Amino acid sequence: MPSDDSLESYRSKRHFEKTPEPMGGKEEPLKHPIYVIQKHDASHLHYDLRLEVGGVLMSWAVPKGPSTDPKVKRLAMPTEDHPIEYATFEGVIPEGQYGAGTVMVWDTGTYRNIRGEKQPSEKATMEEAYKKGKIEVWLEGEKLKGGYALIRTGRLEEKRGWLLIKMRDEYADKPQDPVKTEPNSALTGRTMEEIAGEAKR
Ligand code: MN
Repeated sequence: MPSDDSLESYRSKRHFEKTPEPMGGKEEPLKHPIYVIQKHDASHLHYDLRLEVGGVLMSWAVPKGPSTDPKVKRLAMPTEDHPIEYATFEGVIPEGQYGAGTVMVWDTGTYRNIRGEKQPSEKATMEEAYKKGKIEVWLEGEKLKGGYALIRTGRLEEKRGWLLIKMRDEYADKPQDPVKTEPNSALTGRTMEEIAGEAKR
């Protein structure tokens, strides 16, 4: 959850003299909040979904990545808030460092809090939606578009598991399996191998 020290966990896991990741800091909330999904080839390949809320990037690790099929529920495990600067980070986290492996900006864009638009009150902010475990956002990404829900599940409470689900709208099933059909960087067009190779030079 964003708070004044919400990046403490992010910083405590990293040695900034050894990783190219940005140290960053909490910023003013953005007028048009951004969203990013980073493809991260760490010990297990996964996708990190991040939504800017309150000047930091709220984050979930999605092992299988997003689906555009409303019938498919993808596990999303909450991870530490990241600084806004992280949204454009592509590169290689060196071996031995936290999250070692290649990071790609797989998709990026802006989002709207659609639950907040339905009930424009204090209680429908992203912070409140997070606390309640029910977030609904409209993504305007390079690859993903339309409504996505993030729902905290009771069953996985002990592991704080959430589910990422495509909402039913005109963008459902388009494209059907974007992590497979559009594997390259939304920022630079590079493949994972190209990012890894260029970082070695
Ligand atoms: Mn990750």
